Amino acid sequence: MENKNLENMSKKEFLPICSVCKGIRIIKGDSENWLYKNKDGTEPELYTQLIEKYGKSNLTHTYCPKCYKETEAEIDKETESDNFHW
Ligand SMILES: [Zn+2]
Repeated sequence: MENKNLENMSKKEFLPICSVCKGIRIIKGDSENWLYKNKDGTEPELYTQLIEKYGKSNLTHTYCPKCYKETEAEIDKETESDNFHW
């Protein structure tokens, strides 16, 4: 029984979730897709299903391409202000 549980756990993969917009990454074959929450804040059915499938403890926080770009832009701004001479 215990061994079976361990086996299942080691097979379980982590689900990458964007720490900014909570979008989740889906791999379909060779292509990478991001599933985002609806604009009104509700979750698409597939989104809820995936979160339930993996469980909240198996989420790994990352940035989706969209938020990664925005974060990068923020860092650029901060770097610029650091170089500002009074
Ligand atoms: Zn995001």
